Amino acid sequence: MGTLHRFFCPTCAHAVEVSGGDDAGMVCLTTTVVCEECRQLYDVTIAENTGSANAKRIPIHCPKSGMHKVKRWRSPRPCPKCGTSMKKGEPTVLWD
Ligand SMILES: [Zn+2]
Ligand SMILES: [Zn+2]
Repeated sequence: MGTLHRFFCPTCAHAVEVSGGDDAGMVCLTTTVVCEECRQLYDVTIAENTGSANAKRIPIHCPKSGMHKVKRWRSPRPCPKCGTSMKKGEPTVLWD
């Protein structure tokens, strides 16, 4: 069961709903990445959740373009628009 959280930037009011890190659903494992080109946050699939240790790993990527540079979005979770640490809100959606 994966959980999305609402993240909110107190400086520029940018708001997103993402997992905010590694997450796992029934069929896949995901993580939250920030794309430096799009200046957006995305949850992307990083592996199929087959239940076995040798599940195929998928490199982190931007869903918009394979040419975009992405990195994992981790604490202090900077806003992709302005760099302020985003505030974590309540869980919003249970997926899977
Ligand atoms: Zn911001
Ligand atoms: Zn991108």
